[in-house]
Amino acid sequence: MQGNGPGSSEPFSFPSVSICEQIVTQDGDVHWGPPQRGELQIARDASFVFVEEQQRQGLLRGSLADNNLQVLRAGPTLQIWSMPAAQQAEARTILLRLSSQEANGRLWTLTREAQPKSAGDAKAGSVFEQKIEQASAKMYFHYYGQLVHQQNMLQDYVRTGTYYAAVLENRADFEGKIVVDVGAGSGILSLFAAQAGAKKVYAIEASDMAQYATRLAAGNGEVGSRITVVHGKVEEVSIPERADVLISEPMGTLLINERMLETYIIARDKFLRPGGKMFPSQGKIFMAPFADETLYTEIANKALFWQQQSYCGVDLSPLYGQAFSGYFSQPVVDAFDPRLLVAPSQTHVIDFMTAKEADLYEIDIPLSFKAAIATRVHGLACWFDVLFDGSNVLRWLSTAPGQPTTHWYQLRCVLSQPLYVLGGQQISGRLHMVAHASQSYTINLTLSTTTGGRVQSSSGKLDLKEPYYRMSQAATYGSWYGMEDSQAGGQPQQQQQAQEAPPAQMPPDVSMQQHEPYPNQHAPQQSGRQRRQPERSHPDGYQSGMGNAAQSQQQQQYWAGQQGRPEGAYASGGQYSQGNSGGGYNNQSGQTGWQYR
Ligand code: SAH
Repeated sequence: MQGNGPGSSEPFSFPSVSICEQIVTQDGDVHWGPPQRGELQIARDASFVFVEEQQRQGLLRGSLADNNLQVLRAGPTLQIWSMPAAQQAEARTILLRLSSQEANGRLWTLTREAQPKSAGDAKAGSVFEQKIEQASAKMYFHYYGQLVHQQNMLQDYVRTGTYYAAVLENRADFEGKIVVDVGAGSGILSLFAAQAGAKKVYAIEASDMAQYATRLAAGNGEVGSRITVVHGKVEEVSIPERADVLISEPMGTLLINERMLETYIIARDKFLRPGGKMFPSQGKIFMAPFADETLYTEIANKALFWQQQSYCGVDLSPLYGQAFSGYFSQPVVDAFDPRLLVAPSQTHVIDFMTAKEADLYEIDIPLSFKAAIATRVHGLACWFDVLFDGSNVLRWLSTAPGQPTTHWYQLRCVLSQPLYVLGGQQISGRLHMVAHASQSYTINLTLSTTTGGRVQSSSGKLDLKEPYYRMSQAATYGSWYGMEDSQAGGQPQQQQQAQEAPPAQMPPDVSMQQHEPYPNQHAPQQSGRQRRQPERSHPDGYQSGMGNAAQSQQQQQYWAGQQGRPEGAYASGGQYSQGNSGGGYNNQSGQTGWQYR
């Protein structure tokens, strides 16, 4: 180390390092190039770092302070430095051999301590920390650190079974490959990848679930031995080599809730070799207007509580307006009958292979539908599919209404002011979603129609972080499948009882007049109060009734008998592989507290 006397502003210099550059061949093979002698310079505040080979100037330059360089201590005299493509023409990873263990230790300490924002840790100021509130992240990773919530996802057999099939049917994409599992949770997808022959799987997980993933891998013999769990945020950790394949389950409600797709994209830029694969590679949001008087009345009824003028002698009505708009600011999560859709769905594709992280900060979708029937439109229904574009088999995971229910259900944005439409009439609008620091989105929805030159328009502002978990509808719709409630894409009877029922003293229907004064007002966002998920009590965690094929046959029969409805109004398009769900209905374990999906 030179040039580092007390008070000196000279950068620290490590004059004789040996440098190997990581080389990715056109076939995607990764190896270290031949060692070259070089020099490394690092500013005292780490505001720049400069690595120069004798043969080649400026091999790697960047800033540890801005966190665009990742440093990994890889051995007594070894470090791996990695820089994403955005900072220089191309991504670059180098292996540095320091002249001694002591030099290695000093450089390591410098990279940790010299960073002004970091308080001695490379993670402060990471992309994640810059955009996400600490309180939100703490709650989020606490949630995923609990086995009960991982179990909930594992028991969604539509979800996990589709991943399992997508990986095992595409062995060619995994055999002998380096895989990164982005947000590994219990490590289940890492184990699938290892089962499919992956040479090495890096299972990156930020929550304390990483410890359980380590245990699970350790308890799974030779397959598990190919998994290395990396405990940390994707945005903040390094791995020593480039991946051939990324696997991840980053989808939240409406695909984008949790803002984990951004993490998936960051992982792509950071870890995936050029030409590598992503499982899944694409997400598709589906949107369609719906008509559901029951749901509308249920929501409006909730606010009626606040119309009481003598609640223990207190007039509650001053808060009625806020309560009314507050209830309409909650997107509704449940499984609904696709017959409620009023027009064929529209799609918005997010290509995980090419999207930029910042593309997801704001998603603006112009809407245009043609109503199939005359009705009152109560809002916009949304769901999503993701695509596994395997070399061998292409597979979709669908969360569409009418498909076997997943733990994501579907999402509906209900407008406080319904729209009247005629058959064949155009419905236009906009779905504008803006990411916020609590790992979710503010949704602005507008739907409009024009009748005889008069524009009828209705808008709503909703917080995706504060959904209303409803879920009783599926049981009602169970009869549509010709099954008992306990078997249908539906929930045990008991769950209905667990719903928030409208207060008993409320009248059974709500006069529209009562809504007029507050058509488009919105309460301030609700605070993050805890919500209880209705208990589910299926004995073995799986639907014991009809499998997928039988169910979809019944659906087809149903559609065949329908008049005046758009064929495929509910269908997600794309191509479905049959039998992707085995048991069909997923069962959640009873749970309390925050729900992210
Ligand atoms: N892959 C598992 C878990 C999916 S849930 C499965 O399919 O069952 C998403 C997981 O990603 C959670 O465990 C969560 O803690 C983790 N996660 C979310 N954001 C992350 C980030 N930025 N870095 C690392 N892990 C993250």
